[in-house]
Amino acid sequence: MNSFNPMDVSNCKLPVVNKGITLTEIPNRISVFFEIGNCTCHCDGCHSPELWDTNYTIPNMTVQEIVDYVDEQYKLGANAVVLMGGMNNKDVSKDVFTILLLELSTRQVGIYVGSDDLKWLPLLPVRWIKAGGYEKDKGGLDSPTTNQRFYEYDPTNRVWEDKTKEYFQRSDNNEEENL
Ligand code: SF4
Repeated sequence: MNSFNPMDVSNCKLPVVNKGITLTEIPNRISVFFEIGNCTCHCDGCHSPELWDTNYTIPNMTVQEIVDYVDEQYKLGANAVVLMGGMNNKDVSKDVFTILLLELSTRQVGIYVGSDDLKWLPLLPVRWIKAGGYEKDKGGLDSPTTNQRFYEYDPTNRVWEDKTKEYFQRSDNNEEENL
């Protein structure tokens, strides 16, 4: 009989399509990124169709391997982690994401949800949340008409702040200031 032991992180695998370092996803941070595949959201205009479940990726990295990779990159100067590819991934349970986030709890983690379903995330050790599916006509975070939101947790006041405009639409702010 197959059994699931949430304490055994070697049993928990995620379909990682790509990993590395990015300077552009989390403002002012050197982020270790993981692109999680088998996304079932199928947003119209998605820039990363290789992450869709139609290009199925066999789960290939254990939670422990992901944590080890993060540790390596932190030693080299990284100071954040970002999980991309949404959180609606074929054959990946929310339990696995939960275990990964708990294992990364000493790091600063951002997660791109790919939907507006946030009800369970703020209970986890996450610093940034990108919410909302991508809608081509409304654009991404840098578009003034975007439906997506970028939230940052303020641990001092224990509140989530919407930083979309401040972090991603600064040129608009400047234009407004120059009017
Ligand atoms: S959630 Fe992200 S990866 Fe998935 S379809 Fe939407 S934009 Fe693409």
